[in-house]
Amino acid sequence: MDFKTNIAYRKEMLIKLLNNVLLHENEIIDALYQDFKKPAFEAVLTETSYVVSELKDTIKNIKKWSKPKAVLPSILNFPSRDFIYKEPYGKVLIIAPWNYPYQLAMCPLISAIAAGNQVVLKPSELTPKTSEVLAKIIALTFRPEHASVVQGGVDVSKELLAQRWDYIFFTGSVPVGKIVAAAAAVHLTPVTLELGGKNPCIVDETANLKLAAKRIVWGKFINAGQTCIAPDYILVQKDMKEQFIKHLKEEITAAYGLTPKTSPDYSRIINLKNWSRLTELIEPDKVIFGGQTDESDCYIAPTLIAESNLDSLIMQDEIFGPLLPILTYASNADLHTIISRYEKPLSMYIFTENKAFASQMIANYSFGGGCINDTVVHFSNKRLPFGGVGHSGIGAYHGSLSFDVFSHSKGIVKKANWLDLPMRYAPYGDKLKTIRKFLKWL
Ligand code: NAD
Repeated sequence: MDFKTNIAYRKEMLIKLLNNVLLHENEIIDALYQDFKKPAFEAVLTETSYVVSELKDTIKNIKKWSKPKAVLPSILNFPSRDFIYKEPYGKVLIIAPWNYPYQLAMCPLISAIAAGNQVVLKPSELTPKTSEVLAKIIALTFRPEHASVVQGGVDVSKELLAQRWDYIFFTGSVPVGKIVAAAAAVHLTPVTLELGGKNPCIVDETANLKLAAKRIVWGKFINAGQTCIAPDYILVQKDMKEQFIKHLKEEITAAYGLTPKTSPDYSRIINLKNWSRLTELIEPDKVIFGGQTDESDCYIAPTLIAESNLDSLIMQDEIFGPLLPILTYASNADLHTIISRYEKPLSMYIFTENKAFASQMIANYSFGGGCINDTVVHFSNKRLPFGGVGHSGIGAYHGSLSFDVFSHSKGIVKKANWLDLPMRYAPYGDKLKTIRKFLKWL
């Protein structure tokens, strides 16, 4: 099959994909709006432009990334030249979620194709309009045995997982991630699991509170909070609480107006099931801002919640919606008690002017990735690995790393025949002393 070995053909297919992606960009933007009123600005910023940039970057670098890479040989193998060869895994299954339904489906597909694999993509059933356009773009670009889209819900996903794959790339929730890992284990199929978690956002006493509020409001309420790396809860130094809440309120109003429901810049909750799940997390007496909901429109206002009880419902699992609990801390010990109560999160955000505090937080806690004095934007740098750790995921991708994710790295020693050192061969006789000396010297 030409795509396995022919890099020029893979590149040609990616260029064809780029043309089709550009041709259907407006259709994708419309579909995202129909699926859950994703604003066009957010659709372009976080979905379509990201896909285009990933494609361009991959097209530009595919030759370099797929070349065998020379590494320094070991003196033990003298004389040799050593290389890492990139080999496609073979048949790849990609299962995607609904929250960034275009980008989180397309980006892994682009890299899997670049690395020479066959791809079956299962997009989310919760964004049918977007999945439809996705399927059209893929069908227009690839022969079905090279890449195809299989649409459907949990049953289809389960059927696909029951088959044997050479690699599975899953983006979604922790519970389904465990199902995927179990299915992969049957055939010892390698997996990438891009999952979620409860992402802490810490605001200390040195933070620029106004700017922190602005950046947190943006990162939390973009996509109506339905972002895997959105700040899940705030931990603000107790003396800063009142002032910080005032800034948060101002920034929400500045972004979405006094009635966010009428703002063209605010998404809806994906479906009634998630709307109900989220509204059940709201305890009215704890709401300090927002709290309005409308079932008929799957609407929930950007909502601030004063929280002090780690046992309350909202502090149990990933929120994945526009509800922002605000907790306070007085000491590093408080921070530790709260953060370490949860599994390792996908991201952590630290707002501070205190460099030592920031370094200490990075060193002391395990999390996928994050930012100092910002939220979410680490996603946008292709030179940074993106992925979780522990329950928030296995593996990381983006940029050249994505190509590596979908390639087996084959180590090869190319031995020369002009010299054959006798040391390693039996009979060993009195070679032990010499080899010991030699190995010590190494
Ligand atoms: P989900 O796990 O419910 O669904 C993801 C995919 O798995 C969908 O295609 C769905 O059809 C399929 N699926 C659902 N149940 C299944 C089952 N029982 N067996 C087999 N397949 C099944 O996730 P979601 O609701 O689409 O997305 C939200 C979750 O995804 C959040 O937890 C979020 O944090 C996480 N997420 C993570 C990232 C990341 O990059 N780490 C990105 C986006 C979303």
